[in-house]
Amino acid sequence: MRRADAVVVGAGPNGLAAALTLARAGLTVDVIEGAPEPGGGCRTGALTLPGYTHDICSTVHPLAAASPLFRSLDLGARGAELVAPPVAFAHPLDGGRAAAVAGSVDETAALLGADGAAYRRLMGPLVRDAEPLLAQFLAPLRGLRARPLAAGRFAAAGVLPASLLARRLRTEEGQALVAGLAGHAIQPLTAPVTGGFALLLGLLAHTTGWPVVAGGSARLTDALTAELSALGGRVETGRWVHRLEDLPPARTVLLDVTPRQLGRMAPRRLPPGYLRALRRFRYGPGVCKVDWALAGPVPWAAPACRETVTVHLGGTLAEVAESEAQVAAGRHPERPYCIVAQPGVADPGRAPAGGHVLWGYCHVPSGSTVDMSARIEAQIERFAPGFRDLILARSVRTAADLAAYDPNYIGGDINGGAGTLIQTLLRPVPRWNPYRTPVGGLYLCSASTPPGGGVHGMCGYWAARTALGDLGVRLANL
Ligand SMILES: Cc1cc2nc3c(=O)[nH]c(=O)nc-3n(C[C@H](O)[C@H](O)[C@H](O)COP(=O)(O)OP(=O)(O)OC[C@H]3O[C@@H](n4cnc5c(N)ncnc54)[C@H](O)[C@@H]3O)c2cc1C
Repeated sequence: MRRADAVVVGAGPNGLAAALTLARAGLTVDVIEGAPEPGGGCRTGALTLPGYTHDICSTVHPLAAASPLFRSLDLGARGAELVAPPVAFAHPLDGGRAAAVAGSVDETAALLGADGAAYRRLMGPLVRDAEPLLAQFLAPLRGLRARPLAAGRFAAAGVLPASLLARRLRTEEGQALVAGLAGHAIQPLTAPVTGGFALLLGLLAHTTGWPVVAGGSARLTDALTAELSALGGRVETGRWVHRLEDLPPARTVLLDVTPRQLGRMAPRRLPPGYLRALRRFRYGPGVCKVDWALAGPVPWAAPACRETVTVHLGGTLAEVAESEAQVAAGRHPERPYCIVAQPGVADPGRAPAGGHVLWGYCHVPSGSTVDMSARIEAQIERFAPGFRDLILARSVRTAADLAAYDPNYIGGDINGGAGTLIQTLLRPVPRWNPYRTPVGGLYLCSASTPPGGGVHGMCGYWAARTALGDLGVRLANL
C-alpha cells in the first residue's frame, strides 16, 4: 500500500471535489468510501423495472452547473453533460393553471401577467448581478465577492421569511411560485432566510436553468472519479471508517461526514468545547422519496408542467406553508408539499420506448418510517388526472431508509443540517474557518459546511483549500 499525502473519507460530491482539489495541487490522494460505489447523493441505478434508470437521490443540477469547481473541470469531455429543459420549473394550481419560470426575467414576467412588473422588480436586479452573487453563495461567509450594493440588495430580501417575501407578488400563481422555491429550505415558510432560498433558486433558474445530467447523475460522479484517477488519486469502496484510528497515516485528512459522525469518530481527540458545539448542530426534517416506472409521460393538466423536469406540488402559498408548518411540528401532512422530478423531459432514454421514470419526495419528521407514497400520488393525480393509471412499479424510501442508505442523511435530512438562519450563516459551528477542526490536519468537507446542501462540490473545494493552505500550498483562485 502506498502512503498517500491526503486521505478523504466519503466519496460524495464534496468528498470527490475535495480529493480533486488536493490532487490538482499535486498531492497523492486516497478516498475511502463505505458504500459499494462512490457518489453519495449522486448515484443512478435500477430501482423498479429492467430498463428504467433512476437517480437514487439528486437529479436536478443547477448548483452543479453554477459550481466554479465543476466549471473549471471539463466534465463534459468525461461524459457528464448537463441538459436543461425549456422550463426551469413549474408549479401547478387547481383548474389547469401553473406558475413557471422559463428563460429570461422578462419572459417569465410575461407568463406571470398581473405580477409581471413585481417579478421584474424582485428578480431583475439580482439576475443582473448573478455571477458575483452566485460566487458569494458558493463560498464561505468571510470575504465579499459581490458588489456591496448587490449583496445588500439580496440580503435585504433574502433574510425575509418566504411567507413575507411572497407578498411582494399578488396573484396566486406568483405567490405559489415563491412558496414552491422556498419549500426547498425544508423549514416553515415563516422562518427567516427561507426567502433567500427562493431567491437563490430563482436566480439559478434564470442563469443556468435547472438541468439534469444526461444519462443520470452517476455520470457526474463517474466524471469526477475519472478526473481524480487521471491525477493519480484512488477511490476505495466498501470500507466504512468508524474511528480516526482506522485511517492510514496521512499529512491531511478530510471527512465528508456530518458533525454527529465526526463526534463519534474522534470522541477523545476533539476538545470537549468543540464536541459540545458539534452536539448543538441541528438536523432538519427528513424526506420520503418515491420512484416510479411509468407507462408514459405524466398527463399534467397545465402545459408548462410537461416542459420541465422539476414540478413543485402542493397548491397555493397557504397550502405549501401549512404543509411545511405541519412537518416542523412533527406531523405528516395529509396534502404534502412535494418536489417531483421527471428527467425524461430533458433526457429521453432513461426508460424503454414510451416509458418514463419519475421521482417525488415530500418532507416528513426526522427519522420517520411512514410511507407517504399514497399522499404524494394523490397530489400528482390532483394536477395530472390519469397519473395513477400509468404506474407500472414504484420504489419507496422512507426517511429512515434514506438514513440507512447514506449515513450523512441523519434522520433522512438530505441537506446535511437544518437550514436555519444561524446554520445558513455559520455551519457546522461558529468558527472563522468552519472547515478546520481543533485536531491539526483534520477537516470537515461535507454539506454540513458552507455553502451547504446540493451537488456543487464547493464545500469540498473550500475545505481542501484550507487544508492546502495549512500545508503551505497556495492555490490560485478558480
Ligand atoms: C432524495 C434526495 C434528492 C436530492 N435531490 C437533489 C437535487 O436534485 N439536486 C441537488 O443539488 N441536491 C439534491 N440532493 C442533495 C444532495 O444529494 C446532497 O446535498 C449532496 O449529495 C451532499 O454531498 P456530500 O458529499 O456532502 O454528501 P453525500 O453525497 O451524502 O456523500 C457522503 C458520502 O460519504 C460516505 N460516508 C459517510 N460516512 C462514511 C464513513 N464513516 N466511512 C466511509 N464513508 C462514509 C457516504 O457513504 C457517502 O457516499 C438530494 C438528496 C436526496 C437524498
